[in-house]
Amino acid sequence: MGAWGSQGCCRVGFARDFLEVVAAMRAYPKPLARLIEELEKLPGIGPKSAQRLALHLLRTTEEEASALADAIREVKESIGTCPVCFNYTAGGPCELCSDLQRDDGVLCVVGDARDLMAMERAGSHRGRYHVLQGLISPMEGMGPDSLRIPELLARVREGEFTEVILATNPTVEGDATAMYVARLLKPLGIKVTRIALGLPVGGDLDYADDVTISRSLEGRREM
Ligand SMILES: [Zn+2]
Repeated sequence: MGAWGSQGCCRVGFARDFLEVVAAMRAYPKPLARLIEELEKLPGIGPKSAQRLALHLLRTTEEEASALADAIREVKESIGTCPVCFNYTAGGPCELCSDLQRDDGVLCVVGDARDLMAMERAGSHRGRYHVLQGLISPMEGMGPDSLRIPELLARVREGEFTEVILATNPTVEGDATAMYVARLLKPLGIKVTRIALGLPVGGDLDYADDVTISRSLEGRREM
């Protein structure tokens, strides 16, 4: 039994949990059932976890529950997208774009804000960032037009960058996106590099440790 076998097994487990929770939901008062339903929509939360979290929230104090609800509301009301790099911001250019200490010569291109945070955690890149807000993925209906590529080209044309580092994930989608972006950037006469392997192929920057990210950045090669 390979990976497929274990995956099949997980699916059976998930289905069983789902049926158990559906049965239990009938016993729950409507507001509690609604909370479980909402929690279940979150990534990585299965029916059982949703039920456990909902029951936990029910046991917390009024203040604790309000603090969580307020935090969710506030993040939706106040967090937007940086008009320069498309990272998250609480208004205007984000902290990384506003930081005068950073190197205006090097631009690091990442797929999403989580990857940017992983790079920042590793602490090896002191230049600027550009968040594409996705990767080219025909399977998910993501074409180049859905990404912040025109904005990237405009930044490179107008900025003082001497190098663009393509730090998209080492997946099929990440590689395809890097290749596509490199083809558009090279005619602008700029040095375009791709982070080195060392990161697991098919992996996610967000799950890589800081040393691996730093090494892959140091070992980047010109495209
Ligand atoms: Zn920014």
